[in-house]
Amino acid sequence: MNVEKIRGDFPILETMVNGHKLVYLDNAATTQKPRQVIQAISEYYEKYNANIHRAMHSLGEQATQAYENAHKKTAEFIGAESMREIVFTRNTTESLNALANSLTLNFGKKDEVLLTEMEHHSNLVPWLLQSKRKGFMIKYIPVKENGELDLSNLEKLITENTKIVSITHCSNVLGTINPAKEIIDAAHEKNALAIIDAAQSVPHMKVDVKQLGCDFLVFSGHKMLAPTGIGVLYGREQLLENMEPFLGGGEMIHEVWFDKATWNNLPWKFEAGTANIEGGIALAAAIDYLQKIGLGEIQRHGEKLVKYAFGQLQRLDYVKIYGPEPEERGSLVSFNLGRIHAHDIATMLDSKGIAIRSGHHCAQPLMRKLGVTGAARASFYLYNTREEIDKLIEGLRVTAEVLAR
Ligand code: PMP
Repeated sequence: MNVEKIRGDFPILETMVNGHKLVYLDNAATTQKPRQVIQAISEYYEKYNANIHRAMHSLGEQATQAYENAHKKTAEFIGAESMREIVFTRNTTESLNALANSLTLNFGKKDEVLLTEMEHHSNLVPWLLQSKRKGFMIKYIPVKENGELDLSNLEKLITENTKIVSITHCSNVLGTINPAKEIIDAAHEKNALAIIDAAQSVPHMKVDVKQLGCDFLVFSGHKMLAPTGIGVLYGREQLLENMEPFLGGGEMIHEVWFDKATWNNLPWKFEAGTANIEGGIALAAAIDYLQKIGLGEIQRHGEKLVKYAFGQLQRLDYVKIYGPEPEERGSLVSFNLGRIHAHDIATMLDSKGIAIRSGHHCAQPLMRKLGVTGAARASFYLYNTREEIDKLIEGLRVTAEVLAR
């Protein structure tokens, strides 16, 4: 993998921030976009912008083709059966809200939904909202001291009443890669549906929905080189056929009367209103880009970087790293430096042009469990280098010297 060549595809990496060349280590929040993706967007607007599906004219036909091809490409990318199983949403959050709303319509007090203690708010709050309306119970798979899930009681946690098990594939705070297949199989043994939040895994490793055997899988385009505003909801065709739509409006219907309506074919039944056409087209360009380099290569690069960062961080005084050993984690690392506030760490690093994230990372229950209000997080992607990690470590050394006094 030629990282220097890859860096050349990302114009933003030339940007100067506070007098320093940008070191972008906030990829778990969102990634930068290569020229190929930016070009796909401008080409769409310069050459064939039109609304899709309804048009009888050539531009509309071309836009429809490109948007539908994006569904096909996404289906192939994650090993889905066909584009009928791929619904485009705004992001992971919208995908999870759609599932939480539509799958629990007939739930009552007896029913249970099983999550984990390391969920992002987007795989927690939608279930809380629905549980308030429907009265079902939410249970959690605990997180152990070492940042892994405690699966010792999984058989007991999944009961006859468990209807849904929804877990993150990779934690955005701890970096833990969860044994998704084991949990999906355990859910299926009790006839529960299995949902995978793949926001932090699909961008970084080959994920195959058939191999996993999950019922639903969700992720966001913006964490894998595509723009914001385009997300994916994969569902097994039979399940999507039987599921009620989450949003109603144009495009998602077959026929409408004053007192009833019937639904369009999959996946359009779940895509109400004018779609994010440019987003879909750009997602396809992002997938092309990632596949050309290879998800295996990208994963190995991420593993090397996180291992290196972990080792270098450990050498700093007062550092506390959260989550498992580097061999078992995704391409990110969260930490604190003594009593220095994480926001102060991020601000100090920003003065050197280094972008990291600080705060609760949309996982407040997990932060409470870790006994902290926030943490700093550095997260890597295919264009990051060891030299950038060296700059991060040097920045942290200076931060500790200045702020620990
Ligand atoms: N789940 C995980 C594990 C995430 O890391 C994120 C984004 N930080 C989300 C869900 C939500 O993604 P989005 O904001 O794109 O909906």
